[in-house]
Amino acid sequence: MIVMKFGGTSVGTAEAMKQVAAIIQNDTRKKKVVVLSACSGITNKLLYLAKKSAYIDEQERISLIEEIILFHSDIIISLGIESPNLDAQFTLITKEIYEFCEGISLLGECTPRSLDRLSSFGELLSTLIFSEYIKGIGLHAELVNALSFMKTDSTYTSAHIQYDSMVPQVQKIIIPKCEHNDIIITQGFIGSDEHDIVTTLGRGGSDFSAALIGMAIEAQEIIIWTDVSGIASADPKLISHAHTIEKMSFQEARLLSFFGAKVLHPETILPAIKHNIPVIVKNTFSPHDKGTTIVSDSSYSASKIISVTSKNAVGLVEFTHQTFSITQKMSIIGEFLDTLQCDLYAFGCLENTMYAVISLDRINFLSKAESLKDWDISYKDQSFIAAIGPNKVSDKYPDILSTFNQIICQHNSMPILLSGISEYALCAVIDQKSLHQTLISLHSELIEQ
Ligand code: ADP
Ligand code: ASP
Ligand code: MG
Repeated sequence: MIVMKFGGTSVGTAEAMKQVAAIIQNDTRKKKVVVLSACSGITNKLLYLAKKSAYIDEQERISLIEEIILFHSDIIISLGIESPNLDAQFTLITKEIYEFCEGISLLGECTPRSLDRLSSFGELLSTLIFSEYIKGIGLHAELVNALSFMKTDSTYTSAHIQYDSMVPQVQKIIIPKCEHNDIIITQGFIGSDEHDIVTTLGRGGSDFSAALIGMAIEAQEIIIWTDVSGIASADPKLISHAHTIEKMSFQEARLLSFFGAKVLHPETILPAIKHNIPVIVKNTFSPHDKGTTIVSDSSYSASKIISVTSKNAVGLVEFTHQTFSITQKMSIIGEFLDTLQCDLYAFGCLENTMYAVISLDRINFLSKAESLKDWDISYKDQSFIAAIGPNKVSDKYPDILSTFNQIICQHNSMPILLSGISEYALCAVIDQKSLHQTLISLHSELIEQ
């Protein structure tokens, strides 16, 4: 069995869906689990609708909903699907969207739980349409709802997998269905908690869903189909001549996505590592390109910088406490890290001040945290940049380290160099305005040379 995951752009138009169907048909391996994202742009639209529904008037709300429904019905028409089941399910989902948004409007509040419920409709719609389409062209396929097996806790908008229930559920539900069908289609991104309330795995979470299913069914291979020909030496949207990396280690891929390469959800690689399942990243719109194969660490390691990556917006947060003493430090740091619950890119401590580089969306949350009420908190919008490469890069490769530091300092007046935070990466916190130029220089000096 293999797992094939198709991202938003791969299912974003009728033409793209036809292309996806052709890719599935052309793969001669018999049994496939196909994981789909929502059509591109739809998750953003649903989240916007959910938040707005709390305070816009009925007319505005209905027009936002109609835009989403029209988008999907246009795809259905272009694909020429005629199926009473599709019509019935589509009507049911649209009715639920209307009713749910009316509920948010009556309450005047949109909770994280509501955000998850509403954003789940994106994947429910894309999989419904695609499954009906491929059944219509004669493939043996069945749609299986991920809410029935992707078990999580109740941390809405970024739920954690409950492995003890998720793995047996996947095995119980998916494996028997594979015996009767060549293709199982399911949703990425969405799951449900112990009370069967809808949850989501965080933005970009469909990659993670695919890897989790792959792990549970012991797939031969997980193929992530996207809109670029694999993982590149930089985001091709920022550096157009970036080249595809044919082979990389789990560790490199993991760091790359953690430090900002949107091409893979940061947690995707973990389930694959645990079961040694190769992950291949390929281009839906250029399926013959080789793509990138991610393999276990022991069989491969780079000997130079392979990729530069960045996060455009991170917060450099300063926490100052009047009576912060060295003896209190350890317990306060522990408490602080517990409160944080977000990606922490760097952390430092000096006299009565702690510094942290975190994802920007947590700053509001932190300033309201009860346990930090005695702290003065200030923050600055910054960018984070990383060069990923050989193991022990900052110890064993002084030339690379010095070129990295030189370039960072050349383009930025007050950078924070974080060369020791990862064995495989050199990192820095820099000004947002010089990010692009710094990326270009790092790419040209450390990769193209
Ligand atoms: P999907 O919808 O298929 O999940 P995403 O938009 O989440 O696709 O991820 C693919 C995008 O990741 C690419 O279009 C590209 O702009 C971006 N990206 C960022 N860094 C890299 C990188 N190093 N290599 C390839 N793509 C990258
Ligand atoms: N549709 C979700 C998102 O846009 C999940 C995904 O595409 O992976 O974040
Ligand atoms: Mg993605």
